[in-house]
Amino acid sequence: MSKNPAVLRSKKITVEFSGFKAINELDFQVNRNTVHFVIGPNGAGKTTLLDVICGNARASKGSITFNEKYELAKMSENEIVHRGISRKFQAPSVFAHLTVFENLEIAMKQKKTLRSILRAKMTKEEEQKLTDMLDLIGLTSEKDKSAGSLAHGQKQWLEIAMVLMQEPDLVLLDEPIAGMSKQERIKTGELITKIAKERAVLIVEHDMDFVKDYADVVTVMHEGQLLFEGSMEDVQKDPKVREVYLGR
Ligand code: ADP
Repeated sequence: MSKNPAVLRSKKITVEFSGFKAINELDFQVNRNTVHFVIGPNGAGKTTLLDVICGNARASKGSITFNEKYELAKMSENEIVHRGISRKFQAPSVFAHLTVFENLEIAMKQKKTLRSILRAKMTKEEEQKLTDMLDLIGLTSEKDKSAGSLAHGQKQWLEIAMVLMQEPDLVLLDEPIAGMSKQERIKTGELITKIAKERAVLIVEHDMDFVKDYADVVTVMHEGQLLFEGSMEDVQKDPKVREVYLGR
């Protein structure tokens, strides 16, 4: 288990929908420099967990603390992004008619004040930042293409890069390899591994082979609660997990 400091801690959070507890008194922690997967059967509460972290759902009980000082339950979605949590949803949502470079430029400028957005020219440092990001996602030679013309995997990487331009400490990803080819999955896994060298990455994923290849920590959820947590190897051996999930 990772010894890195915690970036996120939830204490006994409950999320209810008309009295139904989608998350039920969940204690949960994400550490820095960790690729942390959340798995579990349909309806286990995985999406709701990402929702409550990014402010898209509200906890009726408990606390979620970010970087040991910010109480997320009291913040708006925008404040949460500003503090350093960014989420990429499953479907790509790039600006199709803008180039790859322009998409990244917009994502970078979202972090800035209106006044500085109005200043037309980017600084040398900003241009370098975009160039480095293109290199990280392997889209340097595609930078002047319209984002709409990219292959599915490339769009997903661009969107991950747009999330990274907001300089989050915690990146939330929703099934990042859905619809990808084998090669694209490998590239995505490598990208996630690189991202976790500087940040924490929390991923909801159904593909167990992908989880096995890239997880540092795996949390198994069941009926809104934590069923098991550990390495994928330990998860696969656990009889409770086998019963509710992997052994189906
Ligand atoms: P998972 O992502 O693990 O499949 P979810 O977090 O989407 O699970 O859902 C957990 C439970 O909460 C499910 O039973 C689901 O039907 C219920 N649920 C999720 N969102 C809502 C909502 N907005 N209104 C009512 N019930 C919801």
